[in-house]
Amino acid sequence: MIDQFGRNINYLRLSVTERCTLRCVYCRADEGLCPKAAELSGADFLRISRACVALGIRRIRLTGGEPLLRKDILEIVSGLGQIDALEDLSMTTNAQMLAEQAESLKQAGLKRVNISLDSLKEDRYRQITGGELQNVIDGIDAAVRVGLLPVKINIVLVRGINDDEVDDFIALTKDNPIDVRLIELMPLGVLGQDESLRINNNELMAARPYLQPLPPSYSGQPSRDYKIDGHRGHIGFISPISHSFCADCNRIRVMSDGMLRPCLGSNAEISLKPALQAGDAALLEVIRTTIFNKPMRHHFEEGFKPVKSMSRIGG
Ligand code: SAM
Repeated sequence: MIDQFGRNINYLRLSVTERCTLRCVYCRADEGLCPKAAELSGADFLRISRACVALGIRRIRLTGGEPLLRKDILEIVSGLGQIDALEDLSMTTNAQMLAEQAESLKQAGLKRVNISLDSLKEDRYRQITGGELQNVIDGIDAAVRVGLLPVKINIVLVRGINDDEVDDFIALTKDNPIDVRLIELMPLGVLGQDESLRINNNELMAARPYLQPLPPSYSGQPSRDYKIDGHRGHIGFISPISHSFCADCNRIRVMSDGMLRPCLGSNAEISLKPALQAGDAALLEVIRTTIFNKPMRHHFEEGFKPVKSMSRIGG
């Protein structure tokens, strides 16, 4: 569906839980486990998704929190996979539990995964996230093996923490069929308010003139993609601050507690719970109105004060 600024909103990020297996220093290091009680049921996520698809959503990404923590994740994937008009179904995961679930996720209808990986050094990975690097490596291998492709690796760069690993991440694309995407730290969560910690992607690109630009694969693509001769994978730069993509933003977010958030960089949200009770017509109407009124742009540069971390909103 087209919003008030003429953008085609066709992408839904569905955060199925706020709970996470990790405590990434820039995301939710200061938060405890969120209660399960307020989470929507799988059936409610499917109703919301069907309504969104009826309004023109064509791609859904499952996220969280850590989506693989949901016991019914396979049922959710499989239910979404049966929505005819849906063209893409993907997941963002920290891959701590992916190795053992990749095969069944693929069979249930998941098409591809984005995997968060903020360091290739075992100790550092543990310090940043509290998790185990080997689990992620096993998860990446499993995703490639079962064909959850393309596998994309997401790295949030934080100055002084992992910015010395940019070329190591780029090197991963040489022999592996995986894409890596360097993401600018956003003013969400714990460290994001400290601008001095943000690495500007334009500077990373300028320092690497051997990167060859690729055209966007689809309209509204947030990353600027590059290739290197002889490398199997691509390198993407996602730069919500230095190169905002609001004018082409095509997405909305639904959170695990039923809040609909039309813009990541604006705290405005509306609860879908009353409409879920009232019926499908009410659900369609509230989603339609919220999409139409999606804000023109985020407010990250204007003293944005986040109320929620990415793990709650759904990254
Ligand atoms: N648990 C899953 C994972 O780790 O991929 C999905 C949720 S996680 C919140 C989604 C993504 O948000 C991760 O790639 C994470 O690095 C990113 N993220 C969290 N806080 C961020 C911030 N302040 N700026 C940029 N990206 C952030």
